[in-house]
Amino acid sequence: MKVAKRLVSFSLIMWKGIVLSVVLGWATVVSWVALMSTSAYLLSYAALHPSVAELQVAIVGVRFFGISRGVFRYLERLVSHNVSLNLLAKMREWVYVALEPLAPAGLQDRQESDLLSRMINDVETLQEFFVRVIAPPLVAILSTTSVVWFFGRWSWQFGLTILGLQIVVGIVIPLVSRILGKEPGQRLVQLRSKINAAAVEGVQGNAEIVMFGEKEGFLQKFVSVEKDYDHTQRKMNVIQAILDGVSVFSTQLSALLLLFAAIPLVNVGNLDGRLLAVVVLGALVSFESVAPLPKTFQYLEESIEAGKRLFELTDQIPIVPEEGALLERGEKIDIEIKHLSFAYSQISDAVLNNFDLDLPFGQKAAIVGPSGAGKSTLFSILLRYWDYMQGEVMLNGQELRTLSPEAVRSVFGVISQSTYLFNTSILDNIRLGNPKASLEEVKEAARFAEIDEFIQSLPQGYDTYVGEQGGFLSGGQRQRVAIARAILKDAPVIIADEPTANLDTITARKVMEKLLGLSSGKSLLLITHQTHGLAQMDEIVYLDGGRVVERGTYEALVELKGHFYHMRQLEKDLLPT
Ligand code: ADP
Repeated sequence: MKVAKRLVSFSLIMWKGIVLSVVLGWATVVSWVALMSTSAYLLSYAALHPSVAELQVAIVGVRFFGISRGVFRYLERLVSHNVSLNLLAKMREWVYVALEPLAPAGLQDRQESDLLSRMINDVETLQEFFVRVIAPPLVAILSTTSVVWFFGRWSWQFGLTILGLQIVVGIVIPLVSRILGKEPGQRLVQLRSKINAAAVEGVQGNAEIVMFGEKEGFLQKFVSVEKDYDHTQRKMNVIQAILDGVSVFSTQLSALLLLFAAIPLVNVGNLDGRLLAVVVLGALVSFESVAPLPKTFQYLEESIEAGKRLFELTDQIPIVPEEGALLERGEKIDIEIKHLSFAYSQISDAVLNNFDLDLPFGQKAAIVGPSGAGKSTLFSILLRYWDYMQGEVMLNGQELRTLSPEAVRSVFGVISQSTYLFNTSILDNIRLGNPKASLEEVKEAARFAEIDEFIQSLPQGYDTYVGEQGGFLSGGQRQRVAIARAILKDAPVIIADEPTANLDTITARKVMEKLLGLSSGKSLLLITHQTHGLAQMDEIVYLDGGRVVERGTYEALVELKGHFYHMRQLEKDLLPT
């Protein structure tokens, strides 16, 4: 119930639209009942051959209600869909705003496809919440009250019969439907998410599935979930069909019961004979307001399940809080790290142990070491993707933990190993670094990254689309676009995680020399596996197992003949100088 309450209070942000659409829904039903009643009256009266003048009022009534029903229905659909779509847009925004601070630390344990399914399917399921769950019961309560009051004035038996059968159709059948539909309803939502997950995995891992001959296995898995889905859907449909039948039967039964109640009244002269058909037809169509209620309960079940899944995600507390102080002086950043220790979770081993680094503004430091040493982790901490537990990280004397992640990220130009490129033009992708940059500035950044010449050679130049995740570009080209993007940002500190890993040796060296040549007005923190060019670094830190095992200038480390020296020797043996 808590979930339903939260969904209702979320919908109430559009309460004016909701009230209007409910009133319009009620007016539609009332017009329909009035149309059938006046038509029945007109026909019954006309059978007695009165003068046309006596029929005038009824004729006008039929015309009026015939038109008003259509107009009210149209307006009701217009308003209710407007409310629905607005709520959908607000919900999408709300989910995104709630998810953003969770990434990446809070979302890494979740499957990408499951996240997608929650963001798309569950939100779409909730789109129905207003139109199918909130509005129909309110319209039904208003309409039933009006109809029972109207016919009840003629005879209490009419009122009671209509009320009783409308309760059966509007409450008893929905309750039975809820009880029977609960389990398959929940299962359908879960299975839909499973199918999505399997489909996304199938598309993304298509190459691997084909390459490793897993096609059959994958298909079988997919088909078995589909079968389960079909089976559950069929079960749901059978329940629905039976209940629909009972609902139609009860509606028709009302006509019969009302006839039984009305005929004796006509016989004894307590009811005008011309009203006999009015009672039967008017009451019959008044069931229109309760007819959608069984579906309401079914949608309620699905909505609660979808709401639960969404709230579970959005209620997650971000590992790194969004709020924090602003950086007081953001133009020149001095970084000072002291005794920093970090583990990804309380039960896992420390990935960084007692790490120190001093990087005054304008200096360059390189972090080298074997894979898994904790180098990228250090970057994640600096960018406030994760929070550290022990030690100090100071930016201009302000503790990193107390700063807002947004403020922190604004001072770093990041070149990561796997940069995401959006499915738009190269120009827009580079401009992400600085949306206000001119074309000339973008080109300058691209020249820096050694990619300008390639872009110019493309038929559409900077307007070339890069495809999904930059799929139209090679790994090296993507990396250079990422470098151009980071350079364009013009942040005081560049942090680069193996920026040249995917480049050929000659380009890699050119790019590295340029990065190292960023002498004035920027600091550089570089993770690299290559020793080439590191002679220009103010400090090189050799990290192994999260601990600093060597540190110093290039000459000092070469002289030491330790880990760094061996790394350099290995590289010399492998690569041309
Ligand atoms: P490097 O960049 O030096 O190759 P990383 O900082 O990526 O090393 O990883 C250091 C250690 O932390 C590795 O043992 C890795 O398995 C672990 N690790 C990295 N990222 C995560 C993560 N998001 N969650 C849990 N463990 C992680």
